[in-house]
Amino acid sequence: MQIPGLIDPVPVPRAVTARADGRTAIVGLTRPELIAALVVAGIPDKAAKMRAAQVWHWVYNRGVVNFDLMANIAKDTRAVLAEHFVVGRPEIAQAQVSTDGTRKWLLRFDDGNEAECVFIPDADRGTLCVSAQVGCTLNCRFCFTGTMKLVRNLTPGEIVGQVMLARDALGEWPAVGAKPGVVAARDDDDDDEDDAPRGNYSVEGRMLTNIVMMGMGEPLYNFESVKAALGIVMDATGLGLSKRRITLSTSGVVPMMARAGEEIGVNLAVSLHAVTKEVRDEIVPINKRYGIDELLGACAAYPAANNARRITFEYVMLKDKNDSDDDARELVRLIRKYRLPAKVNLIPFNPWPGSDYLCSDPERIARFSEIVFRGGISAPVRRPRGRDIMAACGQLKSASEKVSRAELDRRSAEKEAGWVDAA
Ligand code: SAH
Ligand code: SF4
Repeated sequence: MQIPGLIDPVPVPRAVTARADGRTAIVGLTRPELIAALVVAGIPDKAAKMRAAQVWHWVYNRGVVNFDLMANIAKDTRAVLAEHFVVGRPEIAQAQVSTDGTRKWLLRFDDGNEAECVFIPDADRGTLCVSAQVGCTLNCRFCFTGTMKLVRNLTPGEIVGQVMLARDALGEWPAVGAKPGVVAARDDDDDDEDDAPRGNYSVEGRMLTNIVMMGMGEPLYNFESVKAALGIVMDATGLGLSKRRITLSTSGVVPMMARAGEEIGVNLAVSLHAVTKEVRDEIVPINKRYGIDELLGACAAYPAANNARRITFEYVMLKDKNDSDDDARELVRLIRKYRLPAKVNLIPFNPWPGSDYLCSDPERIARFSEIVFRGGISAPVRRPRGRDIMAACGQLKSASEKVSRAELDRRSAEKEAGWVDAA
């Protein structure tokens, strides 16, 4: 029998949706795919590689969406490009800004499906939280996304598109025609005028400095698309984000972890959340398939981790569920047992409508953190961001979706077993 909450992942990433106008979307094509697509569009073989490099630069380095602005490409070639291709962005169905500056976008893709994406500004960095799927097949009990049905995997273009859109919204492209080293105007104050260009077009001058694959969905259940998308994001001649500034979070898809380390090579975060089989089975149901020992074994073997690039263990603080002193001590023991280069991120539970849990008290979280620190492992408490606009960890959901089959099965099984009290 299918274990409620454990549905096999969609095995093959869905192909790029054919556009009604027959044109091909450039954002999301890998460089070899772009070269091949240019040849199909009639660009001579010999010129295709060079043209691809030019288009790549305009699209990913300058943020240009209009072929007419690609000044170093001949006019007739630009016309061929415009006839066969499009440089698009996901449509913004809703944009919200939190009182703490966090921004959330509800994105609508070509087929009408929606996913959310969040930008979290900090003093020393700006982190974009990117979604990998519309919905999720896994039903972690404390996660709002987990109550959604998995609609589909996002394509590479839809994943990269989230980064492009954030760059647009933050005004981070260099102005076309501007001297190299000058970014586009950023209009982020209250007046009606564009701000003057400022800052250098460099990592230091950018607002979007980090990416976390911690939005909607399980990135390792959409491996090929996530790999292609992050390859594009890391390409040094384009968006150019370093693998050290990208973190992929998994709930524990053990069979894909080694490949993630070898083929993507970004930082790893693991949603551990519990230290006993009983509790983890309940709150992170994928544990029934890949248990804690298997998961920590895969962490020990993760190729892209070392003392300089530690694995982050995410641990949501649920009152009276996983937050005791014994839990904290067991967490230290497990990390030591597997000799993991690790840090722990304690996440105060973010509530959502209908959630079953309460957040641990601040004193309890502080005590838990202290025990882990005393065990020699860094365990900071993640400051909740964007709660007022439902943008914090685990609060993302696109409203149009209904409760998943697995969630319904689980609820009715629980009711039958008398687990849910009448209140
Ligand atoms: N699917 C991936 C990545 C997305 S979730 C994963 O599960 O790792 C990003 C993080 O937020 C995960 O650690 C997740 O467990 C945590 N999270 C989910 N719901 C939460 C909630 N309500 N409060 C706090 N953290 C939550
Ligand atoms: Fe899916 Fe991650 Fe939410 Fe679990 S925590 S339901 S894996 S998005």
